[in-house]
Amino acid sequence: MSDSAHPLLPPATPLLHRTADAVQVGGVDSGDGLVVHPGAAELTALLRGLDGRRPQRAVLADAAACGFDPAAVSGLLDGLRTTGQLVDLDPADLLAADAGPAAAARTAAELPAVRGVAGGTARWAARRRATVVVEGATRVGVPLAAVLAASGVGRVSVRDRGVASAADAVVGGLDAGDEGRPRALAAADAVRRASPLADVRPLPEGTTPDLVVLAHPWAAADPLVAGWQRAGTAHLVATVRGETGVVGPLVVPGRTSCLRCAELHRRDADPSWPSLAAQLTAGEAPASGATVTCLLTALTAVQQVLAYLDGSGAPATLGATVELRPPALVPALRRWDVHRDCGCPDVPDPSGRGAGTPSGEPLGPALGTVDAGQGQWSQERRAPGPLPTDDLRPP
Ligand SMILES: [Zn+2]
Repeated sequence: MSDSAHPLLPPATPLLHRTADAVQVGGVDSGDGLVVHPGAAELTALLRGLDGRRPQRAVLADAAACGFDPAAVSGLLDGLRTTGQLVDLDPADLLAADAGPAAAARTAAELPAVRGVAGGTARWAARRRATVVVEGATRVGVPLAAVLAASGVGRVSVRDRGVASAADAVVGGLDAGDEGRPRALAAADAVRRASPLADVRPLPEGTTPDLVVLAHPWAAADPLVAGWQRAGTAHLVATVRGETGVVGPLVVPGRTSCLRCAELHRRDADPSWPSLAAQLTAGEAPASGATVTCLLTALTAVQQVLAYLDGSGAPATLGATVELRPPALVPALRRWDVHRDCGCPDVPDPSGRGAGTPSGEPLGPALGTVDAGQGQWSQERRAPGPLPTDDLRPP
């Protein structure tokens, strides 16, 4: 354990009294819990004090000043790590977080979701440094940008030259009062509502973002997006066409098939496709998509973006499209292989990030006993019980 680790027990972790002298830490859903004996009010205060602001050595020193055995506290922290309850923040993460108690509270709520990933806190710092450009302040693009900023992405810039209409308003995106405003400005306000200190400035000329989200309908058929391919910039389609949500493909130049590959496959299936596509991209498509479809599309895309930025696993949309069609909105996957007439595999991948690999994280909880080390507490790892399936049956 690094001396600089700042242990954080997420504030939402339940601390439950199993008996008069035993505290159960977490373990009420599908993750493991830890039962600690004896559990006193001082123990609860010690656990709640793990707020990620002190290095472990300061936590141990403070605990010793309160009469705890530092070795026992150290063993307890190790037990919490073994059950995946403790997040070890790096000082760089704290620096990477926005300043102020409100920002720290938001970080404490967001950061634990990254902890299951190997090197989780380093991933968080990388997310804070990342820049994402969203092309299109649409009913998908704006809530998507807001959720990315709220999830810790450092800079989220929404590009759009249009003016907001009443139909652009959507939960988490533009609101009714934005009608008539420049959509890019209204989108920046929506992102700041979700993450007040987010950097929403346009990128300086010549700067390359880590990823571009193409939120306009039929962006895949727009020849302008070929520039992102040539620049070697990863890009993801996330839009609603008519009533259908479309997420993907996620294109990592040089590593996956590209948008032109998909267009060539469409042309093979229908020789008239190029002329149809030109008509589809000729003008600005009106706002469309039910709120539930737009938000589900945005969230599906966010998950793909974060998986790519975090390097936490191979996103499902690499060379594939997820379609969400109402009313069921069940995700349907459509693969786009590299087309034989497209030279895209020769494009270098300048990011060096690659397409992501499965994290190799062990899945599912395990039941076991944690060595409490020396100390005044005994610890027992507690696996969750079976789900109450009866609740799912109709009365
Ligand atoms: Zn291609």
